Amino acid sequence: MWTPETDISKNLTLWITHECNMTCKFCRDSAHKGIKGFMSMEDVYKNLDTAKANGITTILIGGGEPTLHKDIIEIAKFCKRLGFFTVITTNYTKPDIIKKLDGICDTINISVYKENEHLIPNQSDFKSTLCLKTLMYSGRWKDKADFDNFIYKYKAKVPNMVFGCMRGHTKWCKNHQEIDFYDEIKRESEIVDGSRGNQVWIYKGTFIDRKDLSSSHKRHMMVDVRGTVYNADGKMMLKNEKILESINGNVRG
Ligand code: SF4
Repeated sequence: MWTPETDISKNLTLWITHECNMTCKFCRDSAHKGIKGFMSMEDVYKNLDTAKANGITTILIGGGEPTLHKDIIEIAKFCKRLGFFTVITTNYTKPDIIKKLDGICDTINISVYKENEHLIPNQSDFKSTLCLKTLMYSGRWKDKADFDNFIYKYKAKVPNMVFGCMRGHTKWCKNHQEIDFYDEIKRESEIVDGSRGNQVWIYKGTFIDRKDLSSSHKRHMMVDVRGTVYNADGKMMLKNEKILESINGNVRG
């Protein structure tokens, strides 16, 4: 489960595909749109073995939609065999596959959209820790009361809820960054420091991750489906044969 104190320096995101069965306007993976295909198992094993040997402790399996990868169960099992804390982020359009990942992944992040709200499961039916991740953008809720009702409704099913805020990475996102009732929420929130140099508001037992207020773009390491490695500054680095150096540079010492 993500918390504001989470040490992201030992995380590695494994983007096993950029393909997705949804077409969200605010897609955070928009920079990779058009990149087809799936990470080969050879690359999965190589990347995970290298990560393990070099101090990475948490693997974040993401996409695109990672449940579209035909070997997703084996990927999660391999993460656990190597002893990683294993997190998957999914749009929950394939609940049958998510059920098979239950008890293998430590945390299952479910991205909540208007389209899948009705599918949200109950934490009590899962062994893995569930976390609902929802983006805040103008028009998503009509006012603060509507937002509060959303929290009450879904917190009863899944207690862990994290809200992300638009950082303006696409034109649509820039136009939908402002939420009319941010000030009202802030007044009722406890404000803590996030691990990426950002504010986190703790509001009604949920985390509102105000990365949009941060000038720093501190990220953790990522390797994408082509084998391109991104370092902790978000800079694209080399190819996956260089993952060893980039991990060494970011984690060791
Ligand atoms: S479900 Fe996620 S990856 Fe797919 S289009 Fe929407 S935001 Fe992008």
